[in-house]
Amino acid sequence: MSIATVSCRAQHGLSAPPVQVEVSLNAGLPVFSMVGLPATVVKESKERVRAALLHSHFEFPAGRITVSLAPADLPKSGGRFDLPIALGILMASGQLRVRRAGLESAGLVTAGVGRAGAAARGLAGGIAQRLARVEFFGELGLSGELRPVSGMFLAAAHATRAGHDVILPAANADEVSVLAQATVAAGMPRSLIFPARHLLSVCAHLDGSAPLLPLEAGETSESTAGRDASEPSLDLRDVRGQTMAKRALVIAAAGSHSVLMIGPPGVGKSMLARRLPGLLPPLSEAESLEVAAIASASGCGFQPASFGRRPVRTPHHTASAVALVGGGSRARPGEISLAHRGVLFLDELLEYDRRALQALREPLESGVVHVTRAALQAQYPAEFQLVAAMNPCPCGRLGDPVGQCRCTPPEISRYRARVSGPLLERLDIHLEMPRVQVGEFGEPACVRESSAVAASRVARARDRQVRRQGVCNARLDDARIEQYCSTDAQGHAVLERAVQQFGFSARARQKILKLARTIADLEVDGAAGISAAHVSEAISYRSLDRRTE
Ligand SMILES: [Zn+2]
Repeated sequence: MSIATVSCRAQHGLSAPPVQVEVSLNAGLPVFSMVGLPATVVKESKERVRAALLHSHFEFPAGRITVSLAPADLPKSGGRFDLPIALGILMASGQLRVRRAGLESAGLVTAGVGRAGAAARGLAGGIAQRLARVEFFGELGLSGELRPVSGMFLAAAHATRAGHDVILPAANADEVSVLAQATVAAGMPRSLIFPARHLLSVCAHLDGSAPLLPLEAGETSESTAGRDASEPSLDLRDVRGQTMAKRALVIAAAGSHSVLMIGPPGVGKSMLARRLPGLLPPLSEAESLEVAAIASASGCGFQPASFGRRPVRTPHHTASAVALVGGGSRARPGEISLAHRGVLFLDELLEYDRRALQALREPLESGVVHVTRAALQAQYPAEFQLVAAMNPCPCGRLGDPVGQCRCTPPEISRYRARVSGPLLERLDIHLEMPRVQVGEFGEPACVRESSAVAASRVARARDRQVRRQGVCNARLDDARIEQYCSTDAQGHAVLERAVQQFGFSARARQKILKLARTIADLEVDGAAGISAAHVSEAISYRSLDRRTE
């Protein structure tokens, strides 16, 4: 009887818990069994592994083979365990002898100083101990080639954080290339990532006959080089007119406030929304890794070209509640988590499924979403900035000097009331966008503020917020609104008068105070207090939940 153990990782929400793949060979009738909560696709691994071994000219051992995926109570899915299972069988049956040279090749290749390099990376101990610090991932094709696996970025990020080396399919190399860079930048223990194309090349690496080449830091596709917060072509300066809308966008960026834009079609609502990420501060390395990990866990994969960019998600209005907030049979993150630290743009807000919009309310407040499906529970971050857009009336031409709107006032209020009250209350800025007047087109480019200039004002305002209270104004809870958003006597009078006159709810009142705080933070001298002018401007951005008389 012989046993071999190979390291891998499962995926659970945004975590990637370690999994030990143990293979035991015993005498007896030929049976190939697998234990440890494998999903169907993992069970099918048996057939792929058998074919891959035979096609790679190995023997498939006769007798009883037991594969245990430990810990047993952790659900496992996907084809990623094929490679560790195949290697375990080869080691247990004596067909693959892992040699010291195979595990040291990493140090030899990269440091160029042989054993010293290996020692510097902490590669001490026996073969088994060293092997435990290498993790293997890959689905096997029937002829032994390695196929890409989903969620590879997430798994590799956890492995390198643990100081482990990783051997993975070459097709996943692009996705994890940013990690090689990040570990160097963070001064973490130097983990190496080895892309491989075939089972045989992994074996040749381990027995020391033909070492694989590790991914080098900086060896990334040129597309990842640029770290702009948004597409550089999208500048605020190119937006003609819409002075008030641009001002509101800067306020939204400065306090991370959600926005509802109300205007006729073609007025530039989506054009403005797409310029919001360009006003936000760049993501930190840690935030970039977090955003990439969510994309990796979503199954739609992480694009290295988008690393370091704030995500902008624009789900179609036919998107289901599950697609928006997450879930499905594998409890995957939804659009709101994919938009974490970025922008979620919902065009034609009233066309979305009501239940889907209801589901947004809770994460809008808390910044996290809990996804539960059968045995799976996961929690994903969802600190997204919501930008929604809708027409002003059923025909869309209200307030448009060119078109003629024949909607009656009751029709218009019925139409607007379709935005549910609780969702409306959670939108900080209601922005009415009229069609641009002809005169405004003549406005010279030099008087229009560029995104770069606006972004520096936003950065200053955000800096003030973080120093004062640790979070952006939009994320202040009631107790801290009390503490940080106090206004002078005049401002207080203006606010109370508006509450009386327009019948604002308690929640709307809190939103006005938070918004006024951001407007004060945007002042050149960073006005310490909130004045009546700041409060008045904040009130002007709440047009939809005013009581209509
Ligand atoms: Zn109309």
